[in-house]
Amino acid sequence: MTYLRRLPKFDFVSPNSLSELCSLTASAPSGEMMLFAGGTDAILQLRRREATPRCVIGLKRVSELDFIEERADGGLSIGAMTTLQTLMSSPVIQRHYDVLSETAAQIGGVELRNVATVGGNIAGALPCADLPPPLMTLGAQAKLSSQKGERWIPLEDFFVGFGQTATAEGEVLSEISLARPASESAGVYLKFHDRQSMDMTVVGVGAFVELDPDHNLFRDIRLAYAGSAPSVFRARQAELVLRGNALTEEGLDAAAEAAGKEANPRANSWRADPEYRLELIKNLTKRAIRRAWEKAVARGKANL
Ligand SMILES: Cc1cc2nc3c(=O)[nH]c(=O)nc-3n(C[C@H](O)[C@H](O)[C@H](O)COP(=O)(O)OP(=O)(O)OC[C@H]3O[C@@H](n4cnc5c(N)ncnc54)[C@H](O)[C@@H]3O)c2cc1C
Repeated sequence: MTYLRRLPKFDFVSPNSLSELCSLTASAPSGEMMLFAGGTDAILQLRRREATPRCVIGLKRVSELDFIEERADGGLSIGAMTTLQTLMSSPVIQRHYDVLSETAAQIGGVELRNVATVGGNIAGALPCADLPPPLMTLGAQAKLSSQKGERWIPLEDFFVGFGQTATAEGEVLSEISLARPASESAGVYLKFHDRQSMDMTVVGVGAFVELDPDHNLFRDIRLAYAGSAPSVFRARQAELVLRGNALTEEGLDAAAEAAGKEANPRANSWRADPEYRLELIKNLTKRAIRRAWEKAVARGKANL
């Protein structure tokens, strides 16, 4: 049992711009400072003494990180400080990336979504975070900014272990970039958790499928998992089982088995034992793929 204590003592700074933020992160070793976005996880880390920073950097005033923007190339850029409520209710997200608004709607309750941010959900690198799997299946790229400049990496390379990310010293996650999905495609995210809301995910499965124009085959399929390994991951072997093939019961069973082999559920979790998680992984995999297929077929017909 981890007890929540009073907040430890720290300095609090609140930069007004990304450049000011980057000069602050460059000036202190990462162990001595903590970024504070919506604070819904950060406050617990502080009160549990999982983090004891000398300085906490509030991101709320960095308004240039709070945006959702359609680009001229048809893609979409999402700033790290976009709240989950904004993500959920954005018309452009609902129209072209509905899996993200559906996922955001399943995170916590409205009070939490009003403050919790896209960047915090991703950069916290919790294995049970809900946004990374659907974002990974959409092929998201992450922008990391620092005083030295910026670099882009595929979101799936961002997670390197339990609570660990590929950010280098001084870097912050500043933006997520998405390409526009093809018209015969759809994404689904299914999660299992003990209660209806306000509880962390036990297992979450993101499935994105792109079909051929006649809706006979999976032209592409991407699967990503939360709560199934020390970090969120893509199940590439399971994807291979179905890519180029039709939707069949045998194919779904084989993909679910392959995903189970790629998973590595924690043994020391009070939420669910590994065997139970494996059953969830297999069942939710089949369900998510089937639903994504049906959604893509319906979308393709609507576009005719
Ligand atoms: C009651 C409750 C229910 C919850 N339910 C869910 C749920 O259903 N699904 C789910 O996924 N999560 C859930 N959470 C976890 C949490 O609320 C979310 O992960 C949330 O999106 C975190 O965002 P935040 O802005 O509050 O992050 P913060 O708490 O501010 O930060 C989280 C971590 O990320 C780091 N960080 C934040 N922003 C950046 C950045 N731009 N660059 C680099 N590092 C950064 C911080 O230093 C910190 O370590 C729940 C939490 C609570 C308390």
